[in-house]
Amino acid sequence: MFEVPPWEAGAEIIEFKPVNASGNAVAGAKKQKKKKPKKKKAAAEEANPKVNKTPGNFSYRQGGGPLAPPPESSDDDDDEDDGIRAMRKVKAGRIEKQRPPAQATKGGKKELKLKPELAQAAVEAMEATSSTTPAANSLASKLQSELLGGRFRYINEQLYSVPSRKAEALFRQDSSAFEAYHAGYRQQVEKWPTNPLNRIIKTIKKVPKTAIIGDFGCGEGKLAQSVPNKVYSMDLVAARSDIIACNITNTPLQAQSLDVAVYCLSLMGTDLNEFFLEANRVLKLHGNVYIAEIQSRFEDVREFVRCLSACGFDLVKKDVAVNYFYFFQFKKMRHVPKTTKLKAFSLKPCLYRKR
Ligand code: SAH
Repeated sequence: MFEVPPWEAGAEIIEFKPVNASGNAVAGAKKQKKKKPKKKKAAAEEANPKVNKTPGNFSYRQGGGPLAPPPESSDDDDDEDDGIRAMRKVKAGRIEKQRPPAQATKGGKKELKLKPELAQAAVEAMEATSSTTPAANSLASKLQSELLGGRFRYINEQLYSVPSRKAEALFRQDSSAFEAYHAGYRQQVEKWPTNPLNRIIKTIKKVPKTAIIGDFGCGEGKLAQSVPNKVYSMDLVAARSDIIACNITNTPLQAQSLDVAVYCLSLMGTDLNEFFLEANRVLKLHGNVYIAEIQSRFEDVREFVRCLSACGFDLVKKDVAVNYFYFFQFKKMRHVPKTTKLKAFSLKPCLYRKR
């Protein structure tokens, strides 16, 4: 039976446990004692170009770009992807846990000891030019799953801690990061009691079929496939040909062309006021906004409502009673020009943690 992982103190972190390709949970790394970062070692690593340390025969990180932090980013160790770090350290039998961005969490670098069999898998996966035995394949896929989880968490943190303009630039330079993000996201959804998108789909099925919908931050675009309405699906990367690749703060949609705007777990970034000013531009007067977000991201729901109000929206309904997710409906009551200067508004980041 599904068990909801408890929210941690501070309530912004939920547990993330990687799942391997066949859907089985990877043997979780046991809790390890915190270790102080070894500065000498870090300095030594800094001196060596990261790219040369990545094994050539392992295709995990082919993309390049900032979400696969480039070798020249040597001035900031925080920018380094933990997948790459894991690959580099794995031969030593240790895998280093990602360092959270300074603004999202406190604390320093933590390291995890890699389980011996996983360390072995890592070494084999890296050394084998072509692994032919089923055992080697399964070990390699275990390792890949670990790394995928690490990459998902890294990208997720980036999306929550930078302005959407920067997220757009990051994905533009490394579209493979989007696949990695959504592979991790799919695993995460399976751990939730429900997928909030299903509730949004139910809601949209009740609006007139002629209503024109915008799905802002559509991910893989399931909403468009689930309702009879015309849906403009938008995300930073187009996972399908009918999805519009754009920053949802600046869409190619015509002014006042939508009846409904949907944001399902897509209020990422540190400039949510820009999201809602764009919604105001593209929505018709009295058009509706439906929002689903993770409960623990809200410090003060009234602040959130105020942000939307400044962007021209009045609260119609809120469901903040349901565990895990909050749901809101707002209505556009007035036109607010995009050029309006508003204080930047963001919700708390939702960080997933390996366990
Ligand atoms: N709504 C989908 C996907 C949720 S994941 C679902 O419920 O299944 C959040 C999505 O929001 C990601 O795909 C991410 O790329 C997208 N997103 C976040 N900020 C964005 C922005 N500024 N512009 C476009 N998409 C954004």
